[in-house]
Amino acid sequence: MNDYNAEISALSDIKENYNKILSDIKDIAVKCGRNPEDITLIAVSKTKPIECVKAAIEGGAADFGENRPQELAEKFDAINSDNIRWHQIGHLQRNKVKLAVGRASLIHSLDSLELAAEIDKRAAAKGIVQDVLIQVNISEEESKFGIRVGELDGFLEALGKFKNICVKGLMTISVRGYLPEQNKQVFLKLKELADSHGLHELSMGMTHDYKEAVEAGATMIRVGTAIFGARYYGAQN
Ligand SMILES: *Cc1c(COP(=O)(O)O)cnc(C)c1O
Repeated sequence: MNDYNAEISALSDIKENYNKILSDIKDIAVKCGRNPEDITLIAVSKTKPIECVKAAIEGGAADFGENRPQELAEKFDAINSDNIRWHQIGHLQRNKVKLAVGRASLIHSLDSLELAAEIDKRAAAKGIVQDVLIQVNISEEESKFGIRVGELDGFLEALGKFKNICVKGLMTISVRGYLPEQNKQVFLKLKELADSHGLHELSMGMTHDYKEAVEAGATMIRVGTAIFGARYYGAQN
């Protein structure tokens, strides 16, 4: 069986996986005294065919995350529904911004003023205000992307001049190989940083660390593998 067939045969699992993660998130939220309705589960469909997205929608999913703007644009156009929200969660190159602006309800990966200027320009041309999250590199190890904690004040101030961007909150990716308790510390730092700047949305937590993220105050969880199964990468991710 080739990879594509393997994915199609897993379609019936997707609904079930989605609802299992959703109820797990609810349980974790309730246990730590949070309202489950304050947490959005984003189904990360990157590399997966449109049939998988449709299966997740049948299972109740309404928020999807993509890494590549090209793929986000293709799936957005194919699904073409006002009830579905698309999230640009991966690093965004300036020359791809026009694909994401207007299609992505939220861009999670703003991490430079050059990128902000391009998003602002494209949003202005479309007559919209683009909602964004600022990606922060909390651990300051490994990851190439995200601003440093100490840069947030200056970054927010500099963003003030862009009238077609609205900063909704912060996003982070924890470090591969961290233990649960280390992930939790990363997420708690992001929460503290957001609170101290009056920012509400917190996009944090993936398949292996969403529990700690919910406990630390995440408002958006980005789960791919646990919903859609393993990804088969070609040349890109
Ligand atoms: C791929 C990806 C995810 C989902 O990762 P899983 O481990 O498959 O849940 C979440 N966030 C970002 C930024 C990603 O690139």
